[in-house]
Amino acid sequence: MTQPGELAIDYDDVASAQRRLAGVVHRTPVLRSTTGDASTGATLHFKAEHLQRIGAFKFRGGYNAISQFDAAQKAAGVIAFSSGNHAQAIALSARLHGIRAVIVMPEDAPAIKIAATRGYGAEVVLYDRYTQDREALGRELAASEGLTLIPPFDHPHVMAGQGTAALELFDEVGELDTLIVPLGGGGLISGCATVAKTRFPRCRVIGVEPEAGNDAQQSVACGEIVAIDTPRTIADGAQTQALGKLTFPIIQRHVDEIVTVSDTELVESMRFLASRMKQFVEPTGCLGLAAALSGRVEIAGQRVGIVLSGGNVDVDRFAQLVRSDERR
Ligand SMILES: *Cc1c(COP(=O)(O)O)cnc(C)c1O
Repeated sequence: MTQPGELAIDYDDVASAQRRLAGVVHRTPVLRSTTGDASTGATLHFKAEHLQRIGAFKFRGGYNAISQFDAAQKAAGVIAFSSGNHAQAIALSARLHGIRAVIVMPEDAPAIKIAATRGYGAEVVLYDRYTQDREALGRELAASEGLTLIPPFDHPHVMAGQGTAALELFDEVGELDTLIVPLGGGGLISGCATVAKTRFPRCRVIGVEPEAGNDAQQSVACGEIVAIDTPRTIADGAQTQALGKLTFPIIQRHVDEIVTVSDTELVESMRFLASRMKQFVEPTGCLGLAAALSGRVEIAGQRVGIVLSGGNVDVDRFAQLVRSDERR
């Protein structure tokens, strides 16, 4: 159980976020798949966050954070640095609140994400993710323009907002034996695990990160945050270098296991979701399903929740990925 003051968020923070988000966020559907159940021997419940506003769960955390700005913060505006979905989340949330948004994005981010961010009316500043420190750049801009920086995961309001995805899932399907969650910087899983362990302490929470960047797995194993070079993986939403100071302790406390999947397994899951379930999900959004289908997690005979975290991938890029898999 969460001790007040010890961890960055508790269950009540997620419940308050749910009240702030009511009527703004989409209550995304929970999908089922007979084929998925047959091939895993489990009963799978997919929380379809690729159908969320901006195409990913990140709208939840972004909106929850901005809705708590005071008048001075709203007058100056918000700044974010992001590989994409957080950028769109902050851009749309800022527009809904009628405030200015400046977004610092890597220049190799998917074109669809850069265009969508500009489309929501945000000012976009591009940087080179392999040579420039986006945090330093973001903090510099924030200081010179008086903007409030909202980080993509390591912020209590962001983490609490992301947890509302799990809150909705449990409200709809009740107790689960296992909840499988994509893992980058840990904002999504820290919110979801907080909800899971409060509501159903016996529910196992599993984080899934790309094989190329298993910094979370290493961090939990050695008991301190391990930083790695930006991993080269198709899971661009999980190309983080390290867990956050706030997300790590929650992951240590509430996450039972962290597993990894390969890019090939992600592509297989994209194909499965498209062909069997008619769902268009981005590589990072497939981390949870890939772990289930590859047998990386023990789930036979269980009721399982899987968060499909996002669907923002260029159509051409999607076609290229699933086609190259076919040729192998
Ligand atoms: C950001 C993101 C993740 C990872 O979330 P964290 O809070 O950084 O762990 C997973 N999937 C998608 C689609 C994302 O945009």
